[in-house]
Amino acid sequence: MLESNLFQYTGSTLSCDEVNLNELAVTFGTPLFVTSSKSLIQSHRNFEQAFETLPHFTCYSVKANYNLSVIKTFAELGCGCDVNSGGELYRAMQAGVVPERIIFAGVGKKPEEIAYALSSGVLMLKAESLSELKSISRIAGELSLTASVAIRINPDVTAETHPYITTGDSKEKFGIDEAELPEVFALLRQLPHIRLIGLDMHIGSQIFDPEYYVAATTKLLTILNSAQAMGFSIEFLDIGGGFPVTYDPLKPATPIQRFAEKLIPLLLPAGIKVIFEPGRYFVANASVLLTRILYKKRNHTGKEFFVLDAGMTELIRPALYQSHHEIQTVTLHDKTIIADVVGPVCESSDFFARHRLIGDAAEGELLAVMSSGAYAAVMSSNYNGRLRPAEVLVDGSEVKLVRQRETYEQLVQNEQM
Ligand SMILES: *Cc1c(COP(=O)(O)O)cnc(C)c1O
Repeated sequence: MLESNLFQYTGSTLSCDEVNLNELAVTFGTPLFVTSSKSLIQSHRNFEQAFETLPHFTCYSVKANYNLSVIKTFAELGCGCDVNSGGELYRAMQAGVVPERIIFAGVGKKPEEIAYALSSGVLMLKAESLSELKSISRIAGELSLTASVAIRINPDVTAETHPYITTGDSKEKFGIDEAELPEVFALLRQLPHIRLIGLDMHIGSQIFDPEYYVAATTKLLTILNSAQAMGFSIEFLDIGGGFPVTYDPLKPATPIQRFAEKLIPLLLPAGIKVIFEPGRYFVANASVLLTRILYKKRNHTGKEFFVLDAGMTELIRPALYQSHHEIQTVTLHDKTIIADVVGPVCESSDFFARHRLIGDAAEGELLAVMSSGAYAAVMSSNYNGRLRPAEVLVDGSEVKLVRQRETYEQLVQNEQM
């Protein structure tokens, strides 16, 4: 059913590790994000074992799941963090990550965010344009600091994935074009408050074919050579994230070892410290979204609907990226039906699955939307006046509430009349 062995049926009930999901729903209510701590640790270990022989620094990309307890789990395993905004930097530091292990990305950093990152002492900022380099240098000067930067290069590789999650293509807004590099290097020589320490790329997400990484990394290595020839002492080659996970057992992800086999021989001879920024790979299959069936209904064409207490406000991936998520009944059913599994939000795109074969669960029963650990809770919203759900972290038989359910008071707390 899944990549992770931490969500399994014990008897006829789906569990997370040693905890029965029915019990969690009774204790904490629904919708509820349930994350397995062991599954987080397992995917981290898989990744580190695959790249063991390559000197590297893994920076967990916190935007995939920025719950403080999730960030802390990876920090304790030795990861740094890749953050995308002042808010994510704040979160990472609140989770206990030291700034020297944080790298700061983002195509549109505000001056305040640059100042915040520099004065916090992050390892580096990844600059995405000539203008941004100038801003960073000016702000560093005002703070009497020297900014360590990497430049994010757009390698013009169109990775085959959903068009909304490809980022290394010259059509996209991300990074600096190769054609612009001579100007960038000339500028870097002149700017007084900047030190170039890294070259960076991130070509997209959920990329199944290692060859895209090979093509883009090869370009980055060529650029590294010329930068070194120009006298820049580059310490880091950051090849980003994007490593794939299995959402649909019919479309299994390429194992991480296949990426390592291609990339290690390519990167090892460069004798440089490599940075990886996995997000999804670490968290996607570590969580489920637990939701209750409010109503079942059938229309005049005979079409069946399961109407849930969770929808696009909790998990927008199907609506935003047409993503597939497996859906399991928490109680096993022999009898199956074909149904649309939909949320309560007033949008036609508010569905988790259409025409899905699913156990014939009754109203009031629970469903688990699988693989809901990445780009799920972090994209939840208050649209339709919905409260962001609670989140729990499970380890063995131990359950920790790591985010409380929002309240109506919180919905209006920033407003005044
Ligand atoms: C989103 C992002 C990542 C993580 O991507 P995944 O597909 O979740 O691994 C890494 N680096 C940067 C710069 C990103 O924007």
